[in-house]
Amino acid sequence: MNNDISINDFDFNLICEYFSNVERQGPGSKEATIKALDFLDGVDAHSKIADLGCGTGGQTITLAQNTSAHITALDLFPLFIEKLKFQTDKLKLSDRIQGIIGSMDNLPFKEEEFDVIWSEGAIYNIGFQRGLRDWRKFLKTGGYIAVSEASWLTNNRPEEIEHFWIEAYPEMDTIANKVAQMQTEGYVPIATFILPEYCWTNNFYIPQIQTQKLFLKSHAGNKTAEDLVKNMRHEAELYSKYKQYYGYVFYIGRKI
Ligand code: SAH
Repeated sequence: MNNDISINDFDFNLICEYFSNVERQGPGSKEATIKALDFLDGVDAHSKIADLGCGTGGQTITLAQNTSAHITALDLFPLFIEKLKFQTDKLKLSDRIQGIIGSMDNLPFKEEEFDVIWSEGAIYNIGFQRGLRDWRKFLKTGGYIAVSEASWLTNNRPEEIEHFWIEAYPEMDTIANKVAQMQTEGYVPIATFILPEYCWTNNFYIPQIQTQKLFLKSHAGNKTAEDLVKNMRHEAELYSKYKQYYGYVFYIGRKI
């Protein structure tokens, strides 16, 4: 098989099942969410946050526990929203977190409804610049956008990793270029920071090792499942080999 096939080419339901068994569906951490939140002024009990591509809600819970805002968390996959709802009920946060199924390219929101738009490891689904452009109307003037996105950390990199990312995500770019896009789309760049390595390793790739074993067992002989695991393992290997060249970066901007 072609190891460079992007995850988008695999069967959606299987991917959904695979990722619903891990706490996070993308690289990140509680600490990184809180660090990004620290750059936002004036988030209070009257504030409304949209968390787009929330997955099973790792960062949604952190946002709720570290602000007094109301949060609308949206994801395409019903199973993820189900898991989020289970967690919010358990933690008694359901009065402030509303989980909804929907697509980030067709948001069911009113113009200027939100004080903050949050999206960790998910904006790539519609593309960084398009997401910034399309979502802007749902933000109040002076509202914040905070998104995390895979980015190049250097101007040059080995061909193998360049090729992998161009296939997987053609919009992969340097921090400087992404900040420029943010400015083009009508935001003041407030901050960027690179997520520490453990956000990929301890919080993303390592928990998948156990999931992969169980997943392969319950889908023995299923070529799609095998390819998905192969693909994720390959991605993890590439990360450990080339991590000095790319990383996950938080971008925080303010609508003007
Ligand atoms: N924010 C979570 C999940 C990131 S993975 C975390 O950091 O752990 C990307 C998420 O985007 C997945 O949950 C996936 O279901 C969701 N997604 C993919 N396409 C989407 C779309 N068009 N609209 C909304 N969510 C989408």
